[in-house]
Amino acid sequence: MSEVSLARYFDHNATSPMRDVVRQVLEHALDEAWSNPSSPHASGVRCRALLEDARERMASLTGSSPERLAFTSGATEGNNAVLAHFREKLGSHGRVAISPVEHPSVLEAAKARFGQGVFELPVDLNGMISLDALSDALSEANPGLVSVMAANNETGVLQPWRETQTLCSEARIPFHCDVTQWLGRMPGEALESCDYLTGSFHKLGGPKGVGFFRTSGEESVRLLIGGGQEGGLRAGTENVPSILAAVSAVEEANSEVPDSTGRDDFEKRLRELIPEAQVLGGKAERLPNVSSLILPVFENLRWVNRLDRLGFAVSTGSSCSTGKDGLSHVLAAMGRFPEEARRVIRVSGGWSNGSGDWFDLADALGAVFEELKLDEGNSQVISL
Ligand code: PMP
Repeated sequence: MSEVSLARYFDHNATSPMRDVVRQVLEHALDEAWSNPSSPHASGVRCRALLEDARERMASLTGSSPERLAFTSGATEGNNAVLAHFREKLGSHGRVAISPVEHPSVLEAAKARFGQGVFELPVDLNGMISLDALSDALSEANPGLVSVMAANNETGVLQPWRETQTLCSEARIPFHCDVTQWLGRMPGEALESCDYLTGSFHKLGGPKGVGFFRTSGEESVRLLIGGGQEGGLRAGTENVPSILAAVSAVEEANSEVPDSTGRDDFEKRLRELIPEAQVLGGKAERLPNVSSLILPVFENLRWVNRLDRLGFAVSTGSSCSTGKDGLSHVLAAMGRFPEEARRVIRVSGGWSNGSGDWFDLADALGAVFEELKLDEGNSQVISL
């Protein structure tokens, strides 16, 4: 029994509850596909066949060939592995160009591996990289790798990753794209063009602790060294039941047409109820499920707690990126101040929410606003 109604769960960018069909696949696989897929007996061979079938399906969902795709423990592992691979390849004087709004598993891993060799691409007020600056960096900073995410976890803002890939291939520089928040929310086949891809399955209704990594196929990469599993790409006995469930989650998610109607109606209603609320990245292209808000007054935790009492689960931002003064590195890169960051809440919907739930959430925010003002006992003197 879940303690939060799934209809009122609006933190899908942190993790998504497991979809019913995925749960069924997982339960079935726990009974039927628990053998070691490297075992030679019939049960192992059956498991291997199921694993390879899942790999082929996942490869076609990301426009890839199966031998280039390995299943991992999540996007953190994949991102670290990409940076570790390039550190080994480029040596201690190697350089990488990344966006400053990357997930910490790219940003911090890049800093740990490359130190001063990290070149941060400038971003605009929406957190989008500038393609002109990228072109300059490709010719002047001499990076051995460019890493730019497809969609930001805090704001949902999309990066121009297709153009980034084109510029990188013209300059013959490998391009890595973290598609964790894109996967299952936006079309997958387009990802074909990227050299390196990493992602995770738990943001779209799959199990936690499963992700994927796709190489360019041009060079041999070893994510983990040990046995010869995953075609030598990543050692370790595969978690076949979770992998089967994970791929079914992407298929299920991709069968839904991306639709921002619920989110857009939510923002419209919110503008009526709290006109001073600002939408972060509101002028940029965004994922259809995210609304990151700077509220006009009161600390975000007070909003979150009140909403919790009304049964709504939202977040104060990303659980992974609270930095100095509570200012996330994403907001800092977007030119926001710590004082504003304290008023940010991130609403991220998903498969469990209908358009009525978005509407109810807007009304709940309006109600919380009135309650908080009353509580302060100074509704007249609060300056917005
Ligand atoms: N990249 C992005 C963009 C993410 O949002 C996340 C999860 N917050 C990760 C990487 C890390 O994923 P995982 O939890 O699978 O390690």
